[in-house]
Amino acid sequence: MSQETKLSDAWMQRSLRSVWHPCTQMQHHEAIPLIPVSHGKGLWLYDHQGRRYLDAISSWWVNLFGHANPRINAALKDQLDRLEHAMLAGFTHEPVVELSEKLSALTQGELGHCFYASDGASAVEIALKMSFHAWRNAGQTHKQEFVCLKGSYHGETLGALGVTDVAIFKDAYGPLLQHSHVVMSPDARQAAPGQTAQDVARLAAQSLEDLICAREGKVAAFIVEPLVQCASGMAMYDPLYLQLAREICDRHQVHLIADEIAVGCGRTGSFFACEQAGIWPDFLCLSKGISGGYLPLSLVMTRSRIFEAFYDTDVRRGFLHSHSYTGNPLACRAALATLQIFDEDEVLLRNRVRASVLAAALAPLKEDDRVTQVRQRGMVWACDVKVDGHAASTFARRFFNVALQHELLVRPIGTTVYLMPPYILDDADTAFLGRQLQSVMQEVLAQ
Ligand SMILES: *Cc1c(COP(=O)(O)O)cnc(C)c1O
Repeated sequence: MSQETKLSDAWMQRSLRSVWHPCTQMQHHEAIPLIPVSHGKGLWLYDHQGRRYLDAISSWWVNLFGHANPRINAALKDQLDRLEHAMLAGFTHEPVVELSEKLSALTQGELGHCFYASDGASAVEIALKMSFHAWRNAGQTHKQEFVCLKGSYHGETLGALGVTDVAIFKDAYGPLLQHSHVVMSPDARQAAPGQTAQDVARLAAQSLEDLICAREGKVAAFIVEPLVQCASGMAMYDPLYLQLAREICDRHQVHLIADEIAVGCGRTGSFFACEQAGIWPDFLCLSKGISGGYLPLSLVMTRSRIFEAFYDTDVRRGFLHSHSYTGNPLACRAALATLQIFDEDEVLLRNRVRASVLAAALAPLKEDDRVTQVRQRGMVWACDVKVDGHAASTFARRFFNVALQHELLVRPIGTTVYLMPPYILDDADTAFLGRQLQSVMQEVLAQ
């Protein structure tokens, strides 16, 4: 065993003894090695043995501009010597003010108030609490129910699981949850022959309106992931659905919560996914990519109308939610550096080209008729792979392992293979990614 292999093995063993890894059946690591990462640079993660892995899923969808990005690093080093953290009640600081103003400007001031937390699930819970409390302050105390889509994923704390519809994350905790109403997803893959994605969107919107009517004024908010339902398998749908949902929410006095934790920050082609439907929600949740993948940061943006519902001399009418690291200056500074890269590099414009180069590089995958439903929205690419029974239940793990042998970090969801790469892929990287993914697919399908 080489010195490097021994070192790597030692880190793996120590990790498996002391670290409880997320989203993992720990027993599987008896057969599957854990990869101790030594460092990252750009698209690549390197292990202790000098092997490299192209981070094709942006390390769980958070990294936008590569690992060890020089501009974000420089901003953080500067911030570190000024202010690492100060409480945000009674105090404020430049990074949080600038970030709130910049984000508000990106919505043309429609969502002009930002409330901060650290993780996505907390942002979702904040939006749910704010919605309920805003109605309560308005005397509408009967509005206590929430609606989500079939296959929705909004995080895994108890409140967020209540509006999540992914059995593997939810079933074990059923008795602990405040359940919500689940309505038809607009997932375009449901289109019958002769039906369009817009037809599916209309049907799904009808299902939403029927449910809201049936609950007679009891629904506080409808929560939705705009354009792509990511964690349930990159289900993509027509923007028409969001327009119809906005109209329905307005008609029945229901808040619209857009969970842009995964689809925001340019992932689907526009900075906010909602822009492609020409609508604004009442609450917009951001996290993941907003700090460039550097630090935990999440936030909820909302309208003046909601903010004003809490504005009063009575402390109890205020939004008293508190979180120790609210508006952490380092995380906000990473976010500001991230937004600056969007401007300086005209990222949204250049991603259009990147996305089409990616589509072309992956087109040959379609030649195998077990690869179906190839779809893409901006910098999200996905396909479904037809495998049955036991092969289907082990597909994701097998694919992940074979991909590692081909220098790729790709982690399918069930039998959906997807890519969500950082926005720094150049043509050569994309060609490499396309070639490697084809080899991985062939090898896995031949097993
Ligand atoms: C990841 C994700 C969340 C939860 O974010 P965490 O930071 O993991 O809590 C919520 N909603 C969506 C759409 C997500 O993709």
